[in-house]
Amino acid sequence: MIFCPLPGTPLITQGFGQTPDRYAPFGMRGHDGIDLETTDGTQVYAPHDGVATVKDDGANGYGLHLIIEDSKRRSILAHLSEVKVASGQAVYQGDPVCKSGSSGNSTGSHLHWTFKILKNGVVQNKDNGYNGAMDVTELTRLWLDQDLHHNAEYSDEAKPYLAMTFGEKEYVRRVG
Ligand SMILES: [Zn+2]
Repeated sequence: MIFCPLPGTPLITQGFGQTPDRYAPFGMRGHDGIDLETTDGTQVYAPHDGVATVKDDGANGYGLHLIIEDSKRRSILAHLSEVKVASGQAVYQGDPVCKSGSSGNSTGSHLHWTFKILKNGVVQNKDNGYNGAMDVTELTRLWLDQDLHHNAEYSDEAKPYLAMTFGEKEYVRRVG
């Protein structure tokens, strides 16, 4: 089980696989994660257990980003303003590990979340055009079934893509 790294009702501003033209130069079929709308300094929580690796691409790519990985999965939380854990540190699901920002190749504050499935530490499905990244919202569908998710609401821009996979009513604003 993994959790959304943002509580409440995060707005997904770019879905998985969107804007293929922008990602072609990087050899990818499209956006290799999902973007969640934030304001600078929004608290971000570990979506699952793992060991932290902190990296900083400066003004390029993911900017300041945090990788959380165990033998079964890897999350990359990108475009951060601050990371509160150190490389090599064990983190646990729900830990407040970093804060959102707009570092790297980013036009405004948001949280980029790439998610990959690993088997014995090896990224699975690596030749899928996204270096093994998968659409993590596929997993949030399961959270809906189990009532353990943080609901998300999609922007108009993201909806057409997501409609290819999900029904209109599968994501609704969380009440209360
Ligand atoms: Zn992104």
